[in-house]
Amino acid sequence: LIYLFNSNITLGKNGVPVAENFRLEQSTIADTVQAGQVRVKTLYLSVDPYMRCRMNEDTGSDYLQPWQLSEVADGGGIGVVEESQHHNLAKGDFVTSFTWPWQTVAILDGDSLQKLVPQLVNGRLSYFLGAAGITGLTALLGIREKGHVAAGANQTMVVSGAAGACGSLAGQIGRLEGCSRVVGIAGTDEKCSILVQEMGFDAAINYKKGDVAKQLRELCPSGVDVYFDNVGGDISDTVISQMNQNSHIILCGQISQYNKDVPYPPPLPPDTEKIQKERNITRERFLVLNYMDKQEASVLQLCQWIQEGKLKVRETVVEGLANIGAAFQSMMNGGNIGKQIVLVSK
Ligand code: NAP
Repeated sequence: LIYLFNSNITLGKNGVPVAENFRLEQSTIADTVQAGQVRVKTLYLSVDPYMRCRMNEDTGSDYLQPWQLSEVADGGGIGVVEESQHHNLAKGDFVTSFTWPWQTVAILDGDSLQKLVPQLVNGRLSYFLGAAGITGLTALLGIREKGHVAAGANQTMVVSGAAGACGSLAGQIGRLEGCSRVVGIAGTDEKCSILVQEMGFDAAINYKKGDVAKQLRELCPSGVDVYFDNVGGDISDTVISQMNQNSHIILCGQISQYNKDVPYPPPLPPDTEKIQKERNITRERFLVLNYMDKQEASVLQLCQWIQEGKLKVRETVVEGLANIGAAFQSMMNGGNIGKQIVLVSK
C-alpha cells in the first residue's frame, strides 16, 4: 500500500490542513532489488509541523521542496531491511531516513539510509524519530547554539509549545544544561500537569485559560533569560515583553503562523520589536539541519540521558498508514503529547 498526497485538494497559502488532504492508494513496487538498493518494511513514520509548508507550491523556504500532487509523500521514517543488495546493509538491519516514502514497503537506495542501533534507546526504535532524532537534536542544539545557558547563572527559561515533541525535551535539557527555573506554556491542563509532574518543569501555564501575562509574571519573578520559542504569535509577544536585558530567544519554530501567508521567520509586531531591540534580546534564526556535523555526538548525549532516565520521553502513537493524515491534522491542532508517531507495522 502506498500513501499519496491528494491531487484534488490544494491547500492554498492560508488553508488549514485536514486528513482529507491525503489519500491512500494501492500500488505495486518493482519485484527485483537492484545493486546498491534495499527493500524495506516501514515500521514508523513521523509527522511534523514543517510538512505544512510542503503543502504549498511555494514552501517559503529554500531547504524544503513542496510535495508534488499525486506523488508519494515523504518524511522521517524507520524500517527494517528485508532484502539487501547494498554492501553495508543486511536483512534485519534497522534503518532510517529523513525522506522515507509514506509506503508500507519500499525499495530504497542503501546510501540514503542510516543504520540504527536499537540498544542505544533501550529498544524503543521510534525514539530515533523523536528524542534521539531530529526532535531531540533540535532541542539540544537549539539550546547549545542559541540559548547561552550557563550552569550557575541562575537563568529562567520559558518554553512555548512545551508539551510537544521539541518543547517537552527543551525544558528538560534546559534544566540539565543549568537553568535554575523552567516554565512551560501548553494548550491543556493535562499537558501542564505532565510537564510539572513527569518532566520536571517548575510550573506550566495553559495558554487557553486565564491571563498568560499575569501568570508568567508570577511564575518568573526574576524575568525570562532564555525563551525556547516553538509557536510565535501572541504567546511569544507576551513572553518577550517579560524578557530581561541581554536575554536570548531560541527561534525554533512559529507554528501559530504556519497556516498564514507570512514570511519565515514572521516579523515581530512593532511594540514587541521595540522591546527586543531596546533590551538587546537575541532572536537569530535556528535550523537544526545547519548543525549536522554535531549530529553523532549529540545523539549519543541524548541516548545517554534517555538511558539514565534523565530525559523523560512521551509519544502519541497512531496506528496504521491509513491514519497518517489524521495524525498530521491532530498534531497541528495539539492532539499530541510528546512526539506524534505513526506506527505502520510491528
Ligand atoms: P509538536 O510541538 O509536537 O506539535 C505541535 C504543537 O504545537 C501542538 O501539539 C500544539 O500544542 C502546538 N500548537 C499548534 N498550534 C498552536 C498555536 N496556534 N499556538 C500555540 N501552540 C500551538 O511539534 P514539534 O515537532 O515538536 O515542533 C515544534 C516546533 O519546532 C514547530 O514550530 C516546528 O516547526 C519547530 N521545529 C524546528 C526545527 C528547527 O530546526 N528549527 C526542527 C524541528 C521542529 P498545544 O496543545 O500546546 O497548542
